Amino acid sequence: MLRLAIQKSGRLSEDSLQLIRECGISFNRSDNKLTSKAFNYPVEFLFLRDDDIPGYVADGVADIGIVGLNVLQEKSPNADIAIRLGFSKCRLSLAAPKDKIAEIQSSSLQSWLNGKSIATSYPNILNTYLAANQIKASVHEISGSVEIAPNIGLTDAICDLVSSGSTLLSNGLVEVGSILESEAVLISQPKLSVSQKDTLNELIFRIKSVQRAQNTKYIMLNAPNAQIPNIIKLLPGVKSPSIVPLGQEGWSSVHSVIKENTFWEIIQKLKEAGAEGILVLPIEKIIE
Ligand code: ATP
Ligand code: ZN
Repeated sequence: MLRLAIQKSGRLSEDSLQLIRECGISFNRSDNKLTSKAFNYPVEFLFLRDDDIPGYVADGVADIGIVGLNVLQEKSPNADIAIRLGFSKCRLSLAAPKDKIAEIQSSSLQSWLNGKSIATSYPNILNTYLAANQIKASVHEISGSVEIAPNIGLTDAICDLVSSGSTLLSNGLVEVGSILESEAVLISQPKLSVSQKDTLNELIFRIKSVQRAQNTKYIMLNAPNAQIPNIIKLLPGVKSPSIVPLGQEGWSSVHSVIKENTFWEIIQKLKEAGAEGILVLPIEKIIE
């Protein structure tokens, strides 16, 4: 049995559970229970606050866990990352009051920060950054609502998580530098048993298959045989496209895989090359 720590409720929870489901692992979750066993996989879920996950995994109370890189770096910077998960992307950034931007731009962020005070919930990451950049600033650790610190006269700047920047803006702050790009990661404790390692490796294999399928689509189209060479050039495919003869003489059906972000551009070119009846379908998993 592998104990997997997941955030109980918050910005990581839904995507973590979604990933587990996409890996074919089914479970029931009742809101008030702190643990739950999967029906068809040797894994038990522990629902915890995200801040506690690195510690529980380090102590072996949980075997593996899903947590933001920001929290991991702050709490257990030396933990083993089994795989990056690509969701809950955000960055840990420095921000300063809008009216200080001219001052910062006229010198440099580093020299402006010298002698200043910075509020943050991430003192370890911030202190590491300051030391690495030879900045002497005082760090005020506060646990929430960091963005109000400059307004109430507590500090000159802040270091906090940013995704869109709208919270900063509504507090009269501007992002002046990013110190960590974060995303959810799967971590593991160092002393897994052999069978737990097998279970983890199988889970990572499934996660990779799900990740490969994300942002890709299955495409099917019909075209006259004479156009097939031009169409194939437009479709890289997993290996190369499959060509299936159609009932109608002189026509074939072409099947391939395309990246979602190049999708509209390719569709237009395919039509110009004579493709008809184009179907684009979602892909659940890609096994390699
Ligand atoms: P808990 O009650 O578990 O301690 P929390 O309030 O500390 O929760 P959340 O706000 O749910 O934490 O954020 C959890 C994690 O989600 C953050 O540590 C970060 O990795 C990621 N995250 C934070 N803000 C965003 C955002 N705007 N968009 C995407 N991911 C984010
Ligand atoms: Zn938290």
